[in-house]
Amino acid sequence: MEVLNLIQGKLLSATSGEWIDLTDPSKGKVYGRLPRSGTEDVNLAVESANKAFKSWSATPPGERAACLNRLADLVSKNAQLLSRSESTDNGKPISLAAAVDIPRAEKNLRFYASAIQHFASESHAMEGEAINYTLRKPLGVVACISPWNLPLYLFTWKIAPALASGNCVVAKPSEITPVTAYLLSTWVKEAGFPDGVLNIIHGLGAEVGDALVRHPKIAAVSFTGGTATGAHIASVTAPRFKKLSLELGGKNAAIIFDDCDFENALATTMRSSFANQGQICLCGSRILVEKSIYTRFRDALVSKAKKMKVGDPMDPKTKTGAVVSKEHRDKIIDYITLAREEGGTVLCGGNKTTPENQPGLVGGYYVEPTIIEGLKYDCEVNQKEIFGPVVTIQPFETEEEAVSIANSTEYGLAATVWTNDLKRAHRVAAELETGICWVNCWLLRDLRTPFGGVKNSGVGREGGFDALRFFTESQNVCIKL
Ligand code: NDP
Repeated sequence: MEVLNLIQGKLLSATSGEWIDLTDPSKGKVYGRLPRSGTEDVNLAVESANKAFKSWSATPPGERAACLNRLADLVSKNAQLLSRSESTDNGKPISLAAAVDIPRAEKNLRFYASAIQHFASESHAMEGEAINYTLRKPLGVVACISPWNLPLYLFTWKIAPALASGNCVVAKPSEITPVTAYLLSTWVKEAGFPDGVLNIIHGLGAEVGDALVRHPKIAAVSFTGGTATGAHIASVTAPRFKKLSLELGGKNAAIIFDDCDFENALATTMRSSFANQGQICLCGSRILVEKSIYTRFRDALVSKAKKMKVGDPMDPKTKTGAVVSKEHRDKIIDYITLAREEGGTVLCGGNKTTPENQPGLVGGYYVEPTIIEGLKYDCEVNQKEIFGPVVTIQPFETEEEAVSIANSTEYGLAATVWTNDLKRAHRVAAELETGICWVNCWLLRDLRTPFGGVKNSGVGREGGFDALRFFTESQNVCIKL
């Protein structure tokens, strides 16, 4: 597998001629390479985007939408290849890539192809004196930087609104999972995008990513990734007055009241804890259960988690695959060790492992689904993002206590509340310091809704017209009557 950059419509290796290894986390084996791009490649990509901007920004929204829809058609036509590639690159079960990642990537492209044609701006009449109207102008060349956990899903979630609203894009996928973005880049011409409108460059975040966000012609940065990286990008871009959208880490709580629909809460909490090996920013990593049902819920959850076995991500029956890299697996295991030191009891899991009877996968990076109890709400394991198949479980006695524990971290991305008391559902949802709150469900997404976090989980909102507003600058025109 050889990944290449897309610059000015051409597939290119890095100017330096250097490469980075691409590893299959299910086997722990190198299976390809990607360009180790640097400042020179960023300069070429930004220059190419800049040249294309005048014409693309003047292209009618309907024509831009047609390009996005054709790209969506190509994603759909190549869905099997993309699912296989996503699974190989990331370690996620192929069933998940085929059911969630790739269909959602297609949907993102179609959603913004449609949204741009419904995007309207405001007009303010000054009685008998003047009329104001607001123009929404594309920004120019924008950077879209995405992480490894939902590679094509989050990549398209950024480039679709950026392109639909008339910007030219230089995008950088994670160096750990670049393959599906590369495959997409091979279809950009066929979809009808003029050369230079979408450029995709690969390499290390600290090198090519950093050069990209610093480039003076980059007008805005849309970033999804870790909070520390987000803080670094904010510190680099703020003095240059670039527009910034940051979707960062989380430490989400699932609050389970004793009047919930028990079986539904249990099944969904299993999913929200361990889907994608816990590597979804929206996963609930702190499970808070009302004391009256704590033991019953805990035992049922542990019993289900014990039955989850890691398997070959390529096997359609596998529900739990590999985590993304050796470094990440070791970080997760370090947190489990810390949990023990902090006084926690590991109720199930707790170890690295490999799929049974699969000699070809012994070098892969797998972690057992792990549930930990007995930790104080403010210990490190309950405060820091682990981003793996590891959850803590804690009892609470009152609604106030549950809300206070849920709000106790530096993060504020999402929360889940389980109750059949309507008044309580509204009350608790409003009290939670998060950008997203699900009641009696999880990961139910309407793409029109605002998506993002508060506190150290980010700045700004993606989704719906929010993303189109981010990728455009408003200009007020006042005409005297
Ligand atoms: P990172 O912050 O390590 O990386 C995210 C992206 O930024 C990657 O493409 C990375 O490149 C790039 N990058 C790294 N350093 C720089 C830099 N100095 N300048 C510019 N770009 C840089 O996050 P992960 O990839 O590890 O993703 C996991 C994190 O993402 C978790 O914290 C998770 O919570 C968060 N996340 C948040 C979501 C949200 O919507 N709030 C959704 C999904 C994930 P490279 O990989 O090549 O180093």
